Amino acid sequence: MKEAVRDVKELCQLLQLPPEFAAQAAGATGQFPLFVPRPFLARMRRGDASDPLLRQVLPLEAETIAVPEYTADPVGDVPASLQPGLLQKYYGRVLMVTTGACAVHCRYCFRQHFPYAVAPRSLTDWLGAIEQIESDASIHEVILSGGDPLTLVDHLLAQLVHRLEKIPHLRRIRLHTRLPIVIPQRVTAELLDWLTGTRLTPVVVVHINHPAEIDTVVSAALAKLNAAGIPLLNQAVLLRGVNDNVDVLAELSERLIDLHVLPYYLHQLDRVAGAAHFEVPVERGCQIVAELQRRLPGYAVPRYVQEIIGRDHKVELI
Ligand SMILES: *Cc1c(COP(=O)(O)O)cnc(C)c1O
Ligand code: SF4
Repeated sequence: MKEAVRDVKELCQLLQLPPEFAAQAAGATGQFPLFVPRPFLARMRRGDASDPLLRQVLPLEAETIAVPEYTADPVGDVPASLQPGLLQKYYGRVLMVTTGACAVHCRYCFRQHFPYAVAPRSLTDWLGAIEQIESDASIHEVILSGGDPLTLVDHLLAQLVHRLEKIPHLRRIRLHTRLPIVIPQRVTAELLDWLTGTRLTPVVVVHINHPAEIDTVVSAALAKLNAAGIPLLNQAVLLRGVNDNVDVLAELSERLIDLHVLPYYLHQLDRVAGAAHFEVPVERGCQIVAELQRRLPGYAVPRYVQEIIGRDHKVELI
């Protein structure tokens, strides 16, 4: 993470993109700075400004234009906060915002304006959330999210899970993480130890939007998780100019199945301020997914969903 590229000019130089291109992007970083880890950068095509991985991380002038209906908290995270760092929207599952840090900054991220400053960052800070989980026997699953929980060191995560597994009604621990994709070296023996060394059933949900994100190192990292017996799911976001294409999404699903990862969700973009240029109309999304249904086995078709404030589950669009 220390070595990640944080400067647009440097990113454009490394990718052999023209300086004019760097100039327009540099003006757009605003409050959500550029952050691209080098293993992810290595998978981008040189000299191609429309590379699908680059588009996910490159600030564009379009971000700075306010668009009606695109807000700081499109999914109602703030009203769903039980307390700082603990969200509940759905029955039986709570989501812990373990950290605000990520190993990559995705320009379309719906939590890019999240008030992370109030989120806890150590075991003592988490105690309030833990007590709340303890007091509600309907909660069977804790989702460690963020930010990216795997930006935290393993001994801290191990401590947290060790504490959580003492809560009798908890059954599962789920990680929502992009780290095995953007810095696959993060999948260490220590990580596998705490994730499998708990009575809680682990589930790992990764985030891959395009098949070009999967190289041999990513495949090896996913194989390690798989060999440890951890169920693996993928969520993707439907993004204009990145994966709004049947061939791309079909290939992504095929690659995921090869790697024993089930395509779980394809999210309709949440209308977060700064991301309007990524939106694909729902009608187009439905056409794409209908074509995936025609081409792929049912288990390889992700559920095309949208988060709608006030609904008690994610809503399927098809
Ligand atoms: C998406 C989400 C979950 C998980 O929902 P599943 O349908 O179980 O994957 C849980 N909590 C919050 C706040 C979410 O946004
Ligand atoms: S890794 Fe996830 S939480 Fe972090 S910026 Fe990307 S989409 Fe947002």
